[in-house]
Amino acid sequence: MSEHQLALHGGPPTIPEGPPSWPRTTREIENSVSEALSDGSWGKYESRWTQNLIEKLAAQFQSEHVVLCSSGTIAVELALRGVGVRADDEVILAGYDFPGNFRAIEEIGALPVLVDVIQDGWIIDPTAVSDSISNKTKAIVVSHLHGQIADIAAIRAALDGTTIAIVEDTCQSPGGFVEAEPLGSQGDVGVLSFGGSKLLSAGRGGAVLTNDTDIFQRAKIFANRGNDAFPLSQLQAAALLPQLNELHSYTQRRHENVKRLVELTENLKRLTSLQQAVAREFLPAYYKVPWLLANPTQGGWTRDEFIQAIQAEGIAIDSAFRGFTRRSPRRCRKNGSLVNSQIAAQQTVLLHHPVLLESAETIKKVASAIERVLAHDPV
Ligand SMILES: *Cc1c(COP(=O)(O)O)cnc(C)c1O
Repeated sequence: MSEHQLALHGGPPTIPEGPPSWPRTTREIENSVSEALSDGSWGKYESRWTQNLIEKLAAQFQSEHVVLCSSGTIAVELALRGVGVRADDEVILAGYDFPGNFRAIEEIGALPVLVDVIQDGWIIDPTAVSDSISNKTKAIVVSHLHGQIADIAAIRAALDGTTIAIVEDTCQSPGGFVEAEPLGSQGDVGVLSFGGSKLLSAGRGGAVLTNDTDIFQRAKIFANRGNDAFPLSQLQAAALLPQLNELHSYTQRRHENVKRLVELTENLKRLTSLQQAVAREFLPAYYKVPWLLANPTQGGWTRDEFIQAIQAEGIAIDSAFRGFTRRSPRRCRKNGSLVNSQIAAQQTVLLHHPVLLESAETIKKVASAIERVLAHDPV
């Protein structure tokens, strides 16, 4: 295999048909959406679809209250407003995270306070949290990024004796668990996205999850301007409902495949594979599978070149978020060197999730393509 030419150099692609498309249009989604079409509920402001979705999310995410909204980005803002963040407050955020989370804090007029992620990882470092607290700190945004589960229990312990609220960004990890607790239910408020690439998808959409009536009321009131200003439609809810039935089995299938993939790639030179950081029993949910690609020495692939070569093989691997380590000090306060966040931003490559529902054979092909590309030198 290893003298086999890379697709980038004119050889046959490892997966000629390319990455599987997403979202999948299942029979169940077709039925649900056509029911909404045929009874006219698709065009209503209010109908049973959003109501059913609220009830189902509440049950599945063990959250008494659910606010549906138009995106995960707005859901983060609603969650921050829900916990009472106001202008001039401070909100702790990882130095490597979804760009919209920084913006959501700024949108309220609050100040992001950046804390590093763990070494060789993508989630906020609980041991760095207490140093970054001031008397203005109102909340912390904790994201379960790239399938890695943030340690909410350790963060809660670090916040002990304060009233700082935890906003649990679960946009990338619906379906995951720590022991019996669904991700999204461990913070004071959880956030979901239903964006077009996400594990639960309606093209657009989001939700806020909480067991706290005050948080729920504040989020609702902010979103209500006489009408719902950030709505999720009946048709979107109809498309989402059947996906919740499959979430658990899909989560398990992806987990099995990621275990295979991590095993097959963990000894490859230059690549650092994902390690989970929670000490308790867990089920991770994978929107992306991350690796760190060490910087090239003497002519090896740069990250961009590697991504180009692997995409030519028919595999959806891309680069990562840019992180916030270079943001102006006028826009944020930085706690410590943020060196791990900088490494995450510069060296992460991410495999997109749709292939994780494919066979073990396909996963082997993905791993062998990664190995083959790394074994070659770029030309
Ligand atoms: C996608 C994403 C969001 C935002 O969701 P949208 O629905 O795209 O606005 C927020 N946080 C994380 C971690 C995400 O991956």
